[in-house]
Amino acid sequence: MRQDTPNPRGHRPPAAVDSAASSSDSPAGSRFHNSSGTRRGSLMQEPVLVLNATYEPINVTAVRRAMVLMLKGVAQAEELHSSEVHSAAHSHRVPSVIRLIAYRHIPQQSRALSRKNILLRDRNTCQFCGRVFPSSELTLDHVVPRSRGGRSTWENLVACCYRCNNSKGDRTPEEAGFKLARRPRPFTLHTSRQLMRLIGHRDERWRKYLFY
Ligand SMILES: [Zn+2]
Repeated sequence: MRQDTPNPRGHRPPAAVDSAASSSDSPAGSRFHNSSGTRRGSLMQEPVLVLNATYEPINVTAVRRAMVLMLKGVAQAEELHSSEVHSAAHSHRVPSVIRLIAYRHIPQQSRALSRKNILLRDRNTCQFCGRVFPSSELTLDHVVPRSRGGRSTWENLVACCYRCNNSKGDRTPEEAGFKLARRPRPFTLHTSRQLMRLIGHRDERWRKYLFY
């Protein structure tokens, strides 16, 4: 099975906001413990809306990462969750919306081409069988295989389950008898706003930042 990692030539490093507000685990986050041990893991993975210093919504991250950004003084809480987590000496209200202290320039049309962003764009849905999977059970598929000149671009990379990836092999979707769920497009700010709204439907505290 192929584990495809996009690495287009001349690609700029991920946008600052992606490195600052990605949901990647951080050792610093492990200091926190939720008061109710049972929900600890899920609470730390709850989505948090990230606003620019200007209150413009720019990203979604996880509670764990948001709290690290707050500890580092990079962001401050704008809206709080009803739950708390406890570290050795303190209890912390969990943020639901955070805002970056310093303004970051976010390019209008481009987001970093990364595995995380492609899975986000495709909503963790295998673009061939249409089923939703956890990120760990998805890979990236080159629609036109690299062996056939297919490139690592937004338009040629899609979320794909391992089963479909294996059975497609080094063939085009047509050759393999597969049909793409959607034509892959670049991930624009418009796409991410739509996703934020989708996620935000669960959290009333996000509304005033997203629904205007
Ligand atoms: Zn599939």
